[in-house]
Amino acid sequence: MNVMEIFETMDYGPAPEAAAPALAWLKERQTFGLFINNQWVKPASGQYLDSINPSTGKPLTQIAAGNSADVDAAVAAARGAFELWGKTPGHIRARYMYAIARHIQKHSRLLAVLESLDNGKPIRETRDIDIPLVARHFYYHAGWAQLMASELPGYEPVGVVGQIIPWNFPLLMLAWKIAPALAMGNTVVLKPARYTSLTALKFAEIIQEIGLLPGVVNIVTGEASQVGEALVRHPDVNKIAFTGSTDVGRSLRRATAGSGKKLSLELGGKSPFIVFDDADLDSVVEGIVDAIWFNQGQVCCAGSRLLVQEDIADRLIEKVRARMEKLRIGDPLDKAVDIGAIVSSAQLKQIQSLVAQGVEEGAVMWQPSWACPTDGYFFPPTLFTNVSPATTIAQVEIFGPVLVSMTFRTPAEAVALANNTRYGLAASVWSENINLALDVAPKLKAGTVWINCTNLFDASSGFGGYRESGFGREGGKEGLYEYVRPAWETDKSSTTDFPIAKEYAPANGSKPSLDEDVEDHAPLSDGYTEFPPIDRTPKMFINGKQARPDSGYSRNVYDPEGRVIGQVGEGNRKDIRNAVEAAHAAEGWAAGTTHNRAQILYYMAENLSAREDEFARRIVQQTGRAHEDAVAEVQATVSRLFSYAAWSDKFEGDVHRPPLRGVVLAMKEAIGVIGIACPDEYPLLGFISLIAPAIAMGNTIIVIPSQQSPLSATDFYQVLETSDLPDGVVNIVTGDRDTLSQVLADHDDVDAMWYFGPLEGCKRVELASAGNMKRTWVSYGHPRNWLDPARGEGEEFLREATQVKNIWVPYGE
Ligand code: NAD
Repeated sequence: MNVMEIFETMDYGPAPEAAAPALAWLKERQTFGLFINNQWVKPASGQYLDSINPSTGKPLTQIAAGNSADVDAAVAAARGAFELWGKTPGHIRARYMYAIARHIQKHSRLLAVLESLDNGKPIRETRDIDIPLVARHFYYHAGWAQLMASELPGYEPVGVVGQIIPWNFPLLMLAWKIAPALAMGNTVVLKPARYTSLTALKFAEIIQEIGLLPGVVNIVTGEASQVGEALVRHPDVNKIAFTGSTDVGRSLRRATAGSGKKLSLELGGKSPFIVFDDADLDSVVEGIVDAIWFNQGQVCCAGSRLLVQEDIADRLIEKVRARMEKLRIGDPLDKAVDIGAIVSSAQLKQIQSLVAQGVEEGAVMWQPSWACPTDGYFFPPTLFTNVSPATTIAQVEIFGPVLVSMTFRTPAEAVALANNTRYGLAASVWSENINLALDVAPKLKAGTVWINCTNLFDASSGFGGYRESGFGREGGKEGLYEYVRPAWETDKSSTTDFPIAKEYAPANGSKPSLDEDVEDHAPLSDGYTEFPPIDRTPKMFINGKQARPDSGYSRNVYDPEGRVIGQVGEGNRKDIRNAVEAAHAAEGWAAGTTHNRAQILYYMAENLSAREDEFARRIVQQTGRAHEDAVAEVQATVSRLFSYAAWSDKFEGDVHRPPLRGVVLAMKEAIGVIGIACPDEYPLLGFISLIAPAIAMGNTIIVIPSQQSPLSATDFYQVLETSDLPDGVVNIVTGDRDTLSQVLADHDDVDAMWYFGPLEGCKRVELASAGNMKRTWVSYGHPRNWLDPARGEGEEFLREATQVKNIWVPYGE
């Protein structure tokens, strides 16, 4: 081709990046062992696995096939190192993390080339996106190591963390896992994905180079069934951090249920890319390229569903096809290539089969006229039109360069279509009307929303899902809480030094008598020696109304002496269903003003305070505790309501300034409908300590009061009724805690479940939550001192009641 021809076609020539240094690095090492205690060790199995270059289908090298014995050794190393690393001052940890970031930059080209060879992604991406973001992640978290003591007082590291990552961003996912873990003082055992371990092994060399304490970072390669499962089940691992598919995430939720291991899950997605008719279509086209052809579409947050306003759909589709025709596919080490290879032959087959299914289901498939390379695993960019929202290709994560497009007419329809998925990872909104875009963004069920941009990431802005895209965040301050716990949780000496209803004896030694009932006593008429108490029937409270139980049965409530002091409704599945329906109908609560929510919480406090004596007597009656002690509980409850009234308009989001022209709005959003099972200790304070933060943050709730002492909660509906609370925001269903919790945890329309009760019940809730991957918060059978504000209220509760949505808003011409 001569210069004239090049000018005419405006085609690129090849611009190959040299593979030689990376190949020499591989050759020098021949095979790779496991990295444990800063040593390279042979796998117990003596077996090795081929690591394949997906752009040629040929082996690059061999990696160790670890097994459970290796995991045992790695966990032991991490446990040993935790003794020191967990106590190492933040500044020293920060120095090590700074050194890691520097060394990543020093080896950046080798890492970029290795990543391309191993994964098949274009060098342009590994060089300009993956590796710089890896370095940025370690710098950012070096800062949090430095600041931990001042910014997270009262928190301590979790301990040994097992981390499992996928193959699509091998080194970046490693950074997202290891950086926050180390910053917070944890030690780790990381399992890279089977197909893409090489940059993790180069990272291990960096750990050696910088002289990190042996055992702080351990890397065990191998198959999921050998290494991954052993890590998840290991009894000495305190937390599992997982990124991967929703199905595997679900199995991890089940495997860890009841173990007390902390769990964070970053799972799959089917993210919408919404284009309104006033969008700048040329920018939109480039956005689509970045959304679905970046990394061959093997991106958890890929904009794989194109939703276009009807009147511009034809014009946009035509432009997209023209652009697709110009995309370049081929050798990932060619700097002029847009699309590299699919990671493995198995993944390629999966994409091919889903695309064939799309055609069978009647959608119209379009691919560019050019052909893909025949060596290696390549798949052309693909566009489906005429797609119906319920079909497989519109619902299932294809994880390949395949875009499905649908149309909408109005913004409301766009939101409905966008949210018509079980996932909730990310979304893009394209419109030149910022009012429209900012109105739509909060309505999308997604952890990240990009406005007029897509697939932007930064360490300062947390990333993570809603719904079946998982729970937990990586990045930002919110991501740090995945790797810490309140220090008081491990302070064994002080967990039982407070009264628990069951065991508490009255302070003055005397038993309160039954006539110390909630009814006031008037003078007796002649002929009567005492008034019979007026019978009171505590009802359930559903949709703002007192409700009788569907079962028609009641259950007795006893005092500590075993005397019957009342009956409450025996709630069942039907009552819970009605309550969930009411809670859903009340979801407008989240859209109301925080000022209004604060006012209502203050009003509740006012109304409770006016009935202090009545509520105190009820506590005495149920628990046998001294009257002064019960009064103290009511007063603490009033104060708690004040606290959450105060927090309603103060637990706000942040504005991040990532390295781009623009801002990221980190908004703390309500989770949605939360099921809450209350503790038995402190029947009133325990109940309010859970419902107040939930509703303060805009959630609507179904609450199961203390099973043992439910009458404080059933009395409370009278306070709710007089406090202007909209119907359905708080629903109270009494009955057997575990039966009712099971229904809530199984329910697909419940978004989170809090359970404060016995360990066995916690396990059941965690197991059942795997159905729709609802977020859970359980007590693992440990009672809490609700009177102590450091344990019974505050940011821990508010964080559990919210999820962060990051809205990226670039600006400038
Ligand atoms: P995968 O779930 O098959 O595997 C992920 C990791 O888990 C691998 O290391 C694998 O070996 C291991 N694993 C598999 N089964 C296991 C088990 N039973 N026990 C323990 N470990 C097990 O996912 P993948 O195919 O490697 O990656 C693609 C998926 O990852 C996609 O669904 C994608 O959306 C998701 N992903 C999510 C994010 C995010 O941040 N949300 C980021 C990247 C990828």
